Order: sequence, then C-alpha cells, then structure tokens
Amino acid sequence: MTRHPDVPPFAARLAAAHRMIARGAPPAPVHLADQLGAAGKETQRLADRIGALMPLLEPGRNWRQRQDASPSTAARAYLLAAVLGCLSVVCPHLRKGGPQPAFALLALRRVSCARCAGIVRRPPPGEADRCDVCTARGVSRFHPFACRLGPTLLVGDACPACAELLGIRIKEAAS
Ligand SMILES: [Zn+2]
Ligand SMILES: [Zn+2]
Repeated sequence: MTRHPDVPPFAARLAAAHRMIARGAPPAPVHLADQLGAAGKETQRLADRIGALMPLLEPGRNWRQRQDASPSTAARAYLLAAVLGCLSVVCPHLRKGGPQPAFALLALRRVSCARCAGIVRRPPPGEADRCDVCTARGVSRFHPFACRLGPTLLVGDACPACAELLGIRIKEAAS
C-alpha cells in the first residue's frame, strides 16, 4: 500500500497501543487528548447520537454501536491501534479550534472534526477488501461499527475476527 507510506503496520501500532495502556496513558493520542480533554461531555452527547448519525451518512448499512462503557484491554488496544493509523491526516479545525470531539474515520485513515466528518469521502476503491482495524485484506463480509474511545469517536468497518474481539459481532444470521 503505497498510498499511506507513513502509517506503521498494524502489528507495530498494536504493540505501541499495549505499551500506552500499560503505562496508563489516556485512551487517546496524547496531542489530541491535550486538546480534546475538555470535550468529553460533548463527545458523550455525540456518541449517544451517533447511532442515528451514521445511518444518515451511509443509509442501508447495518450499523452497530458498542455500548459497554469499559471495553476489555484487548479491545481498547485494537481501537487505539486503529486510531494511531489515522494520525497522519488530522483535520485543521481540530488543531486550531477550541476543544471539540474528534472522529477517527478509519476507512479514510483520517481524524476529522464533527463537521468535516459529515462530508462523505469514499475510501480508495483498491482498499475495499481491507479491514479498517487490523488492515487484513481479502475481507468479504464487514461489520460497520461506531464507538467511543476517550474523546474520539471511531467509525469503520471491521473484519469478522476484529468485530468478535471488539464485541460488535452481529449476532443474527447474515442476510
Ligand atoms: Zn474540520
Ligand atoms: Zn480486522
């Protein structure tokens, strides 16, 4: 994948995520956490509504939302590793504006403010078979999900293995 040469491989990001969690680092990238720490309430409000937001952005998809407030360490590490893959493209409004929620758009490997996240951009067609979390290729069945990690809202498509680990696996039979 030459399009994102500056994004470390998932295994390296996952290892970094585990180190951050072991150190008790905030569950968000440090430079964002500083800026967004005060945005917690607003983020929670948005998280409460995101189940309604995402179907508006991409109707027809079977969106799932994590509900449990304290995901397992393994799940947090996976989510954090996914966010770490998005930091090369951060919306300028998050850098210069006041504290506000951030959207980690995993498919686009970008972090956006709420307004920019509403501008739908299609992922590169060559990456349509890629899991947004572990970056495995050849995935044919995805589990779209949205969840909150600290002040950051994550939106992406997980492969079945990642969805299971994150606790977002769709329980009913596939249609
Ligand atoms: Zn923006
Ligand atoms: Zn995956």
